[in-house]
Amino acid sequence: MYALTVSENFFRGEPFIVLVPDTLEHEIQAGCMVLLSAKKGNGTISIAYILSLKAEYDEDTSNIVISDILYGGRPVLGHSLMQLTEWMADYYLARRIDTITTALPSAVRTTVHDVVEMTGFELKAESPKIISTALRRSIMKMMMTEKRLTIPQLQRRLGKKQLYRTLSELERGGHLVLSKKFSSTTPKLRTTYRICKSIPEEAEEILKSAPKQLDALRILTSLYPESALPESIAISKVSLNALVAKGFAEKVQTDIITSFSTGFSEKPQSPKNPTASQQKALEQLRCAFEQQEYRTFLLHGVTGSGKTLIYIEFLKTILAAGKTAIILVPEIALTPQTAGRFREHFHDEITILHSAMSNQEKYDAWHSLRLGKTKIALGARSTIFAPLENLGAIIVDEEHDGAYKQDRNPRYNGRDTAIMRAVLSKAICVLGTATPSFESYHNARSGKYTLINLPERVDGATMPVINLVWMKDSPKASPSISELLYTQIALRLEKDEQVILLQNRRGFAGSIFCLACGHIPHCKFCNIPLVYHATKKQLCCHYCGFTERYTASCKKCASPELFFKSSGTERIEEELQTLFPDEKILRMDVDTTTTKGSHGRILKEFHERKARILLGTQMVAKGLDFPGVTLVGVLMADIGLNIPDFRASERVFSLLTQVAGRAGRASKPGEVYLQVYNRESDVFADILEGSYENFFLKESAIREELLYPPASRLIKFECTSEEEKQAEAAALYCKEALARHLPAEKGCTLGPAPAGIAKIRNRYRYHVIVKLVSGKLSPLFIKQMNDDITARFRSSKLIFTVDVDPQNLM
Ligand code: ADP
Ligand code: ZN
Ligand code: ZN
Repeated sequence: MYALTVSENFFRGEPFIVLVPDTLEHEIQAGCMVLLSAKKGNGTISIAYILSLKAEYDEDTSNIVISDILYGGRPVLGHSLMQLTEWMADYYLARRIDTITTALPSAVRTTVHDVVEMTGFELKAESPKIISTALRRSIMKMMMTEKRLTIPQLQRRLGKKQLYRTLSELERGGHLVLSKKFSSTTPKLRTTYRICKSIPEEAEEILKSAPKQLDALRILTSLYPESALPESIAISKVSLNALVAKGFAEKVQTDIITSFSTGFSEKPQSPKNPTASQQKALEQLRCAFEQQEYRTFLLHGVTGSGKTLIYIEFLKTILAAGKTAIILVPEIALTPQTAGRFREHFHDEITILHSAMSNQEKYDAWHSLRLGKTKIALGARSTIFAPLENLGAIIVDEEHDGAYKQDRNPRYNGRDTAIMRAVLSKAICVLGTATPSFESYHNARSGKYTLINLPERVDGATMPVINLVWMKDSPKASPSISELLYTQIALRLEKDEQVILLQNRRGFAGSIFCLACGHIPHCKFCNIPLVYHATKKQLCCHYCGFTERYTASCKKCASPELFFKSSGTERIEEELQTLFPDEKILRMDVDTTTTKGSHGRILKEFHERKARILLGTQMVAKGLDFPGVTLVGVLMADIGLNIPDFRASERVFSLLTQVAGRAGRASKPGEVYLQVYNRESDVFADILEGSYENFFLKESAIREELLYPPASRLIKFECTSEEEKQAEAAALYCKEALARHLPAEKGCTLGPAPAGIAKIRNRYRYHVIVKLVSGKLSPLFIKQMNDDITARFRSSKLIFTVDVDPQNLM
């Protein structure tokens, strides 16, 4: 028997055939993880995966043999996950080995940490079952004295390399346990700081001249009775030790690794009965589930329409039917509230996967899902590969979120992969959001998905009223805050309500923005903002390569005040602090959330109303459900429109709608103020109206005309090199190859053009973009082109990447 196999270390990750040794014939299956070794040479040993088996094969030319079978002979990837990795390789034009390794946590893909242990009960080594072979007998003898050994130790002592198969036979017989034990690299106990139980009333007064210690005191007080690591609260050890010396704080030795949490917690919510519209949505989902066929639903529910309860009630049905489920969220750290609410309902039937888990925790979680011990997996993008059998439903929350796309190989989209997994498992897929991606909404309108609308908030809560503030005509309280917004903030603070302020950071310095009239110059062919290239004094379209001379004044109003420098959250915090000197302001952005659990900590403080103003980047727009928030302000609502990407207005619409949706979610109605500079865009009018549908129809007419998704599919080819000429030449070569391959009726090719960000880490970047109207590109052709270009431009260390359905065109 022969096996089609794939391994990172042989044949550049391409599949190849090896002979299956007779001893393994009855055990090996597709999806198994095996050890390969080279017959001659340095004896490289490498992990590989079995793709399929063949009874006959012409010749066995390879110099490679399967030496052992891992994970007790059980497939590490079940049938439908194998099919899924095959689909990914084909659709995303990726290597199969990359799709397989993506589907398995790295903790699984290693033999370094394998150990053998005796099981609890003693057995005589002479037991006839065990001594059936000499190898079994010597393993058992060794283990009876040693009790626990790593596999390499056992291999050395017995002088034998191939042990896995025999060990797993012994494991099946109940004599041994084979498992992975990761040693923790960080010391277990770390010094954390906690505020003392009773501190003198005049503590703040005493620390008046030591602002850092005062800060530390306040933060620690807000955390009590929890203790904190210096780095997780961004306070130096020096300041903390000073507090200890003064008797205000104490040091606590804490077991950090096992005590990870998102840092956020809330009281369990009272049980709820679904409202009539939630009930109707549920009935549709349950009815489809009973058919036992694949189907995708787009649950388009306005912010605060109670989508979480629908997911939870639906999942109860799934579990009751003995099936399993996956829940995808864009980022766990940013949505601790959602994860917490699922946990509250499903307790130990749910496994929450997050990047802060140790290797041991990751392995154990994977293993328990694989064995069916937990029924629901919740986590970010890669949770779509949870090794669950018998899948009944997949839920993709906030399906529009760009975080579902992986920006390294394989460049898959977790949402689309979820749909494919649902197809392969005959499961129900639910995509939920208040602002669907255009792709999903298009599919819902065309009938590919079933649309469920929830146009109203739960419990009669009203949608927030949205107001625009034209900055040009408005008096200002500070450089970035209008009188109007300032008065509104002051009003809420007076009533002891809470305020969320958003400063979008995704501005783009390379594109021009007139500070006087808001005009943004666009490419007349592609309708995307032009990018300023300082060296050539040109404005350039990075889709089609069109260029225009740069004139240092606005084409519309002749103002010379052209460059837009995004003012960061830090500066706005200062302005706010000057306007409200006694108010505690929480800031959440990349700088304040560098350590694990810091998002959760900030959100917890806000949730417990220890502060009334939360200022941040898009992080504050995601899924938060805080009843005290009655005002949302956006400081520069236009930022984001000047990004040279055809999805710019879709993203701005979605971000602003999402952040607006944080206001007035409970009994008190909410209000939203958007400070706007640019009067040219239609986006704001549609946001005011709160009509996603109108916005979609208008915007898709433009996309239709210019053949942008969902009217086409894009594939982005990128060539980067330290030598600009070579990067450009390679991109041109790629474009010509594509043009020959692609008949005009299937699509067209744009570029080559310098990328929006023309140079990253000293490498010049050039793009070629294919707009595909029908069919697909052949994976074989792409592979050949890749090999060809890489070989041709080897001397300039060219890197060539292919991105199918790119989210980012910069
Ligand atoms: P969405 O995700 O759609 O924005 P959520 O699921 O966060 O909305 O729900 C909004 C709020 O409404 C939450 O505080 C939730 O607890 C509450 N809620 C949801 N369904 C009900 C219900 N049937 N009865 C009472 N409150 C509900
Ligand atoms: Zn202007
Ligand atoms: Zn153009």
